[in-house]
Amino acid sequence: MDLELKEKIAVITGGSVGIGLAVAEGLAQEGVHLALCARDEARVVAQAAAIREKYGVRAIGVSADVSKAEDIDRFVAAIDAEYGAADILINNAGTGSEETILNASDERWQYYWDLHVMAAVRLARGLFPLIQKRGGGVILNNGSICATQPLGYEPIYNTTKAALAMFSKCLANEMIQYNIRVNLVNPGLVQTPDWEKTAKLLTRDKDITWEQYLDKIAKDNAPIGRFATAEEVANFFVFLCSPRASYSVGSSYYVDGGWLKVVN
Ligand code: NDP
Repeated sequence: MDLELKEKIAVITGGSVGIGLAVAEGLAQEGVHLALCARDEARVVAQAAAIREKYGVRAIGVSADVSKAEDIDRFVAAIDAEYGAADILINNAGTGSEETILNASDERWQYYWDLHVMAAVRLARGLFPLIQKRGGGVILNNGSICATQPLGYEPIYNTTKAALAMFSKCLANEMIQYNIRVNLVNPGLVQTPDWEKTAKLLTRDKDITWEQYLDKIAKDNAPIGRFATAEEVANFFVFLCSPRASYSVGSSYYVDGGWLKVVN
């Protein structure tokens, strides 16, 4: 299937590692030019260079913390300067949390709200004129299965991802008149360096390897019995970016190996 993505321009937050990088590579394979951001400048600049080299597309890497409005303004200005337009926005940057509601400070709630919700609000607003120049486009938000099926140790993550899900629906309703399709992808267990780091920490000095630890989590939770690779999730994002997904608007798609326990 020709995904008809050649020469499009995609903006990906958190595009330097994990799911964001896999989406960047998946789109680059289809001939899409990229603007990536992350906080660690050296890593995001190096990944953009590697993608240019490997796929022959244009790619910039910009250091920006998307929880900060001023960094988002700077990122949007860099995209405008480089491309003057955009077709695709992937709001991907995010991270898990660990706290109890009784012990978490207001500042902690605010940080995750800014990271998971306000970043998506601000980038949609900031990039709208650039997407309009192309006559429409696609916005995808990376949610989580935790938006509807909470994990006990991360109430702030669960709550802010649920808010992102509702924002996606509202944005989809408002944007479709401009030919901009908005959707949400809710991954389940995806084996990224972050999970591997946690598994290594938790199994230090234990009788279980980090690989066995991850395997047990997958078998205990996902009917498929394993983690997804970042590429497996990225493939789904790439399809939703394509005009081939032209009737997909305002939906939440689970890519979770069957982990969601209800019909939704
Ligand atoms: P990783 O930790 O592997 O990568 C996160 C990316 O986001 C990195 O590029 C990181 O770069 C960047 N990032 C983190 N914080 C910020 C910030 N404040 N501003 C800008 N960039 C930032 O994460 P994953 O690939 O695992 O997750 C990506 C998304 O997928 C997240 O939103 C997560 O909630 C969601 N998800 C992941 C699942 C999983 O099992 N892995 C499951 C369900 C959802 P840097 O550190 O340099 O800023």
